Amino acid sequence: MKIIDLRSDTVTTPTKDMYQRMQEAPLGDDVYGDDPTVNKLEALAAKTLNKEQALFVPTGTMGNLIAVMAHTHPGEEIILERNSHIFLYEAAGASRIAGVQPMVIKGMDGVMDPKEVEEGIREDNIHFPTTSLICVENTHNMAGGMVQPMNNLQELRSIADRYKISMHLDGARLFNAATALDCDVKEIAAHFDSIMFCLSKGLSAPIGSMLVGGQDFIDRARKLRKMLGGGMRQAGIMASCGILSIEQMPRQLKIDHENARILAEGLNNLSGFSVNLDKVHTNIVNVSIKDKMISSEYLVEKMKVKGILANPRGKDFIRLVTHKDVILEDIHYALKIMESI
Ligand SMILES: *Cc1c(COP(=O)(O)O)cnc(C)c1O
Repeated sequence: MKIIDLRSDTVTTPTKDMYQRMQEAPLGDDVYGDDPTVNKLEALAAKTLNKEQALFVPTGTMGNLIAVMAHTHPGEEIILERNSHIFLYEAAGASRIAGVQPMVIKGMDGVMDPKEVEEGIREDNIHFPTTSLICVENTHNMAGGMVQPMNNLQELRSIADRYKISMHLDGARLFNAATALDCDVKEIAAHFDSIMFCLSKGLSAPIGSMLVGGQDFIDRARKLRKMLGGGMRQAGIMASCGILSIEQMPRQLKIDHENARILAEGLNNLSGFSVNLDKVHTNIVNVSIKDKMISSEYLVEKMKVKGILANPRGKDFIRLVTHKDVILEDIHYALKIMESI
C-alpha cells in the first residue's frame, strides 16, 4: 500500500546528493575543531544569516536550550509566546536546565503584541527577577506555520534595544518564513541576537540544527554544547548534508508551500473538513473536522488504515505538513482518499 506521510517535515529522508556527500566528506574530530566539513557548514550558516559565527548542534531543542543558557543567568526571566515550541514542547528545559522562569504572553496566531511584551518586562525592583531574553518563533508551528510580520519583529527589536534585552529566534522553519515573504533569511535574522534553524525539517538533512549569532555568544554556546553532551566527533558526516540543505534545499520549500495550498484548498472543498485558507502561509495545514462526533485521534487512525499519516492537533483538528518526499501526485491521491473517508 502507498504510504503518504504528512505528519511532519521531520520525516524527510536525505537526498541522493546527500548520501554521496556523506561518503566523500573530509572528516576530523570536531571537539578539537578539526572537522573541515563541520567548519565549512558553520561558516556557510553564519554567512547565509549575515552573523559572525555558527554552531552545529544535534537538535533544534538543544540549540534553543543553549541559546537560553547563553543569554541568561539562572533566576532570570524570559519572555515566551504561550504556544511556542520552547514553552510547550521542550520538556521545560529552559526552567529545569537553564534555571529561568518563563513570562508567557499569549499571541494572536503566535504573534505577540509588542505592548504586552513591553509590559512583561520587569522593572528594576528588589522583588523581581531580571528579564533577560525575548524569544520569537518564525514560522510559528502551533499557529500552523504562520509567518511573523516583519514590522512586528522590528517593534520587538526596538523594545529589546530600549531595555537592553537579547532576542532569540526559534527559526526551526526560518527558511519557510523567508520563502513565504519572498525575502532573504538575512532580513529576518537581522532583528535577532541569535537564531536557531533546523536542517532536519524541510531542508531534508537527516540530523542537525544550526545556532547562529555573534562571536562571543557562539563561544559560550560551544562550551554549553559540550556540557550538555552535544560535542560530536566526526560530525562532518552529518554536516555534509547540512551544507546541501542550505545550498540546495530552500528552493524546494516553494514547492512544499504550493503543495500545502493545493492540499488546503482541496480539503476545504470536501464536505467533512474546513481549512482557514488565510492561515496557510507555508507548509503546514491545520484541518478542522466538521463533525464534532469524530475526534481527531479517530480520524487519524482511519486515515492511517488507508495509508495517509497525519498528526492530531487538539480534539477537533489534524495537522498535515508537506515536504520534499510528498509530490504533487501524492497530494491529489491523499485528497481522493480523504474524500472517501
Ligand atoms: C521542530 C521544532 C523545534 C525543535 O527541533 P528538534 O530538532 O525536533 O529538537 C523547535 N522549534 C520549533 C518551532 C520546531 O518546529
